[in-house]
Amino acid sequence: MKIIVQKFGGTSVATAEQRDHVVRHIRRAGERGYTVVVVVSAMGRAGDPYATDTIIRLIKSANASPSGRELDLAMSCGETISAALMAQILTQQGIPAVALTGAQAGIITDESFGNARIIEIKPDLILDVLKQGRTAVVAGFQGITRSGEITTLGRGGSDTTAVALGAALNAEVVEVFTDVEGVMTADPRIVSEARTLPTVTYREVAEMAHMGARVIHPRAVEIAMEEQIPIKVRCTFSDADGTLICQQHAGGVEIRGDRVVTGIAYVTGLGYLVLQNGEEFHRSPTTLAVFRLLADAGISLDLIHVAEDRISFVVDEEVLERSVAIMSELDLRVQARTGFAKVSAVGAGMRGVPGVMATIMEALDKANVAVYHTTDSHANISCLVEKHDLERAVRALHHAFGLDL
Ligand code: ADP
Ligand code: MG
Repeated sequence: MKIIVQKFGGTSVATAEQRDHVVRHIRRAGERGYTVVVVVSAMGRAGDPYATDTIIRLIKSANASPSGRELDLAMSCGETISAALMAQILTQQGIPAVALTGAQAGIITDESFGNARIIEIKPDLILDVLKQGRTAVVAGFQGITRSGEITTLGRGGSDTTAVALGAALNAEVVEVFTDVEGVMTADPRIVSEARTLPTVTYREVAEMAHMGARVIHPRAVEIAMEEQIPIKVRCTFSDADGTLICQQHAGGVEIRGDRVVTGIAYVTGLGYLVLQNGEEFHRSPTTLAVFRLLADAGISLDLIHVAEDRISFVVDEEVLERSVAIMSELDLRVQARTGFAKVSAVGAGMRGVPGVMATIMEALDKANVAVYHTTDSHANISCLVEKHDLERAVRALHHAFGLDL
């Protein structure tokens, strides 16, 4: 059996017209000789009746900090409804299909409600369906623990479902369909000149995903890299080729894994904390206490900076208030502000290349963007900026690195 996994995101299954495009792609894959496994997300975005955010809102209207178990049980319904509907549409249009929940598809996860990890896949039921000549339509984003609890995989989790199934079923390729043409040099919602990258390496796209490019989930890329499965990111509403994500030179395709800057990514919704008290933080018990207290509260930090006269870092906006409350246990002057964003230039080939930082700082200065903090790794340089400057910052960097050419 030559298997293909095709995943359709929330904006690809929201309306009847969009679902017609979904059917078209599934039919095409069948015509190309593939046995098709479909993975679907919940329909639409916040406000749509069966969207995940709508379900979360409903549960939170009863309890602002709901039980993880009950929240996951409720959230998983969005994808289940979507799978059942899609299977019926396909069957009506002459493509016999069977809907399966994550649990029925044998997706076994650990116990971390809300952000569970897939630990095993038992694809027996899917294989039965396929052997009967039918298309399996699997509800994305969800699984079941060994003890039978329903879990969800976190934002973007349907991408992970698709790639994990591709690995378990030995699929030739996993196609991730979305509302843009592929992996682009920047979010096209911000940069209208952003270009679709015909090919990218797992490493490059994993880095972009980690830095905020939500077009594909980083965990999905990591599984694909480990299992050496090619991913194609394609647009539901066109027949364009999209982006092939694979290892360098895989499948005889010569691709550049050495671009200095592949793309510009960003994250919003950050709160910035600066702690001071006249102490010398580079050798102080206060420094240890700051990080221990936040760790014990389960708060994750980014853009961490410890200097002689200050400690600074960012947290997700939702936990800013809680972080400030925790810091008030210590004898510190705490400045905290919401409304920050992180913009990153990402490229696996920037290591050792002089002048990348100079280009970034000059471009941001010219665009009148204040930079509060920077950080870097072998494959990215990130800058903390104010949210109202973010769009200008993304466009400026995109242009400065010639990505719009
Ligand atoms: P889906 O519901 O299909 O999973 P997502 O909203 O998760 O869709 O991801 C697609 C969105 O990712 C696009 O609409 C686009 O705004 C955004 N995006 C951010 N960065 C990029 C990028 N570098 N390339 C393409 N899309 C991007
Ligand atoms: Mg997504």
